[in-house]
Amino acid sequence: MAYKAGFVNIFGKPNAGKSTLLNALLGEKLAITSPKVQTTRHRILGILNMPEVQIIFSDTPGIIKPEYKLHEKMMQAVRSAAEDADIALLMMDANDSPGQIEELFTSLKLKAPKILVINKTDLVGNERLLQIRKSFTKGSFADIVEISALEKNNLDILIKRIVSLLPESPPYYPEDMLTEKPLRFFVAELIREKIFILYQKEIPYHTTVLVTQFEEKKTLTKIVADIIVQRETQKGIILGEKGRMIRELGRLSRLDIESFLGRK
Ligand code: GDP
Ligand code: MG
Repeated sequence: MAYKAGFVNIFGKPNAGKSTLLNALLGEKLAITSPKVQTTRHRILGILNMPEVQIIFSDTPGIIKPEYKLHEKMMQAVRSAAEDADIALLMMDANDSPGQIEELFTSLKLKAPKILVINKTDLVGNERLLQIRKSFTKGSFADIVEISALEKNNLDILIKRIVSLLPESPPYYPEDMLTEKPLRFFVAELIREKIFILYQKEIPYHTTVLVTQFEEKKTLTKIVADIIVQRETQKGIILGEKGRMIRELGRLSRLDIESFLGRK
């Protein structure tokens, strides 16, 4: 069998479950997930290597209507991602309105073969799934797959469908490479995820995490990160009373970073 390889871009509204799917497929916390919207600012690539197959995934910022300048920029990023894909995964929450979803996806004007991924099937019954399938225009999609990214249901079927649509090509990346982005970047994203979990309101959106030191020592990896806020008053909020909040931020971050890096 000839080697197959290609780029698969995942599209969907915020909260559709894109990061969860990527994490489930790649078995590592490569993309950040959060109950809040738009935590994924960057285009994250993860690479799935199997015998004779390489799938390169990207998780784009969520599809949103551009109401603000920043949103417009994000939509541009979504569009440019659309152009270089071999396959587009269009992901919807099974509780979303199919009409609205179809309108959104049509507006992307994708050329690549499209797979509709109906996610969160653990939350709905079979009747709802049938109703969704029926409401989409026939022939809009190369395939429709129902999954639960959270419970890892039907992911094997999704992979099979992707592979069947992938072009024949030698691998794009060395096969031992999990991702294109440096570890530092993921460490910063893991810390950012904790900021989303721990702090309220606008705080997460006003902070940036910079990993300023990343040293692999004999028995541990030494990491130093700066948290940049926009206003002086936000410093106090990040620190918390007697430093309680930032200690918790450090604790939660270390837990995930240790399991991601596989060392202290
Ligand atoms: P993204 O914005 O598209 O990247 O969505 P996330 O992956 O961050 O997921 C948004 C929320 O939906 C998180 O709270 C996930 O745990 C949840 N979620 C994702 N997939 C599923 C699923 O299959 N079932 C259920 N019940 N929840 C899910
Ligand atoms: Mg995400």
